[in-house]
Amino acid sequence: MKIARFGSLFALAALLVSSSCAKTPPVSAADKEAAEIRGALSKLPEEDRKLAEEQKTCPVGHSALGSMGTPIKVDVGGKPVFICCEGCRKSLLADYEKSKAAADGAAGEAPADEKPAGT
Ligand SMILES: [Zn+2]
Repeated sequence: MKIARFGSLFALAALLVSSSCAKTPPVSAADKEAAEIRGALSKLPEEDRKLAEEQKTCPVGHSALGSMGTPIKVDVGGKPVFICCEGCRKSLLADYEKSKAAADGAAGEAPADEKPAGT
């Protein structure tokens, strides 16, 4: 029977696929990354480590802080911000300057929302 033969071949193929998949479970890769992140963050001073853990991801590259080595602390307008790698510093500061300029521009235009309260 043609169909029966095809069925057994399919079963064999499924068996081969499932056995090869079992060699690389995705869990171990995630565990490895988590361990790397913990290791990278542990190199920071206690205070910085807490801040980096709270921030979790790089605002520029959006990768997990610590996944590319010890995160770098950057002072952005007096506020500490952590980035995943040195390459993100330029973009972070450029974005800050841009948003600061936009905020200054908006403030200069003086929105007419607020009406003087009575007389
Ligand atoms: Zn980054």
